[in-house]
Amino acid sequence: GQSDLDCDVLVLGGGPGGYSAAFRAADLGLNVVLVERYATLGGVCLNVGCIPSKALLHVAAVMDEVSHLAALGIDYGGAPQLDIDKLRTHKEKVIAKLTGGLGAMAKMRKVTVLRGYGSFAGTHHLEVEETSGDGQQKTGKKKVVQFKHCIIAAGSQAVRLPFMPDDPRVVDSTGALALKSVPKRMLVLGGGIIGLEMGTVYSTLGARLDVVEMLDGLMQGADRDLVKVWQKMNAPRFDHIMLKTKTVGAKDTDAGIEVTFEGEGAPAPQTYDLVLQAVGRSPNGKKIGADKAGVAVTDRGFIDVDIQMRTNVPHIFAIGDIVGQPMLAHKAVHEAHVAAEVIAGEQKGDEALARSAFNARVIPSVAYTDPEVAWVGLTEDQAKAQGIKVKKGLFPWSASGRAIANGRDEGFTKLLFDDSPEAHGHGKILGGGIVGTHAGDMIGEIALAIEMGADAVDIGKTIHPHPTLGESIGMAAEVAHGSCTDLP
Ligand code: FAD
Repeated sequence: GQSDLDCDVLVLGGGPGGYSAAFRAADLGLNVVLVERYATLGGVCLNVGCIPSKALLHVAAVMDEVSHLAALGIDYGGAPQLDIDKLRTHKEKVIAKLTGGLGAMAKMRKVTVLRGYGSFAGTHHLEVEETSGDGQQKTGKKKVVQFKHCIIAAGSQAVRLPFMPDDPRVVDSTGALALKSVPKRMLVLGGGIIGLEMGTVYSTLGARLDVVEMLDGLMQGADRDLVKVWQKMNAPRFDHIMLKTKTVGAKDTDAGIEVTFEGEGAPAPQTYDLVLQAVGRSPNGKKIGADKAGVAVTDRGFIDVDIQMRTNVPHIFAIGDIVGQPMLAHKAVHEAHVAAEVIAGEQKGDEALARSAFNARVIPSVAYTDPEVAWVGLTEDQAKAQGIKVKKGLFPWSASGRAIANGRDEGFTKLLFDDSPEAHGHGKILGGGIVGTHAGDMIGEIALAIEMGADAVDIGKTIHPHPTLGESIGMAAEVAHGSCTDLP
């Protein structure tokens, strides 16, 4: 077919998956075209996800910390004054710094970034309709790119409930991050990480919160003992925590969005100034003309891949949110490197590279709430459900010198070791969880221990610096192997 542009690898989507794949492929000497419909690279994560949410959560955490200082003899006097325009500008600067950096890195590597909406036109062709403005207005100008290999990294978007009115007071995470104003009453619809993080920001800025969740607990996936610590600290932010409750209707009224609930703990209909829909994300698999390339897409819009990230079409790969759970940036980045390496290996006849595969044992999860909740590998609840015998080492932060010095000793660190008969009392670490400030910054050590097959002695005998929160990981291991002598 005719084409305006030829390349070794076409990458569809400029998020953490897409830009990582493009950069790795370029570093391995391939000629790369990266197609993105928005003006900046970075995808959901940098523009409307991980990064802006953390910029706001940092400010919220500092505000909460400062509010506790009065009890320690430091009083700034009175309530904080909020200049929401300045705060929004700060968040936008953070995004611009990072996305600008990506643009520069693409240039340095000679990756051709093509601005537009991509849709397959055949097994080796993608049609790109140019987009303009900060959104995705199509200009009508089209280009066809021919590729040898392709990596689909088109990501996901927020799920909307069909009965939600089209009203500026109903937002998804992108709308919430736009930070237009602070509502008096806010409903967080969906008790997962994204909803609870955004709820934390708005609540610290002054909103009263309700949260509604269909399942029987918030922050699904994490062990209940971890979540309990978060919930106890955060209960004052909420008027209603509705579990096993369905949201069944909503209408826009002058007073706000009136929402109707059904289920065990359902109150009478409630009226909110802001409703945040955070009920999950759906993959963009059905919006890229995948059928024209012969790529199979599931009913829900996911694209199935093998451990080399290859779709059912051998020269087309897929990575990131579009291939399935967990929908996390760090997973997308690692998958991206695998796809780029396999392709470079095949095009250059490098057998070692061509054997690259995604075989991470574990992928950590973090809720950047206050306190943070982080977990990786097997959870205690999973071990119970699956009948896996584990030995637990739990170190309470009430015994951590650093946590006490910080005035934040509500957390704990928990490690789980294989306690099956075959382990003969020297079982490897299978999982771990941390609740407390900076838990997310520490969980990587537990992930490394799992990847390396460490046992409790390896971790307990590793000298951690004192006094740090990270020490609690070594202590938890000592608790597990029974030589914990000198706690604080
Ligand atoms: P995306 O980031 O979705 O990127 C896909 C890109 O493809 C987009 O830029 C899109 O515009 C483009 N695109 C799609 N279709 C086309 C097309 N047809 N033509 C042209 N371009 C197209 N993850 C974490 O790990 N840590 C966090 O703290 C975290 N916080 C989050 C907070 C929020 C509020 C949200 C919403 C998500 C968060 N995530 C977090 C999830 C994370 O953002 C995603 O897992 C990650 O962005 C997935 O990367 P991706 O490359 O697969 O897709």
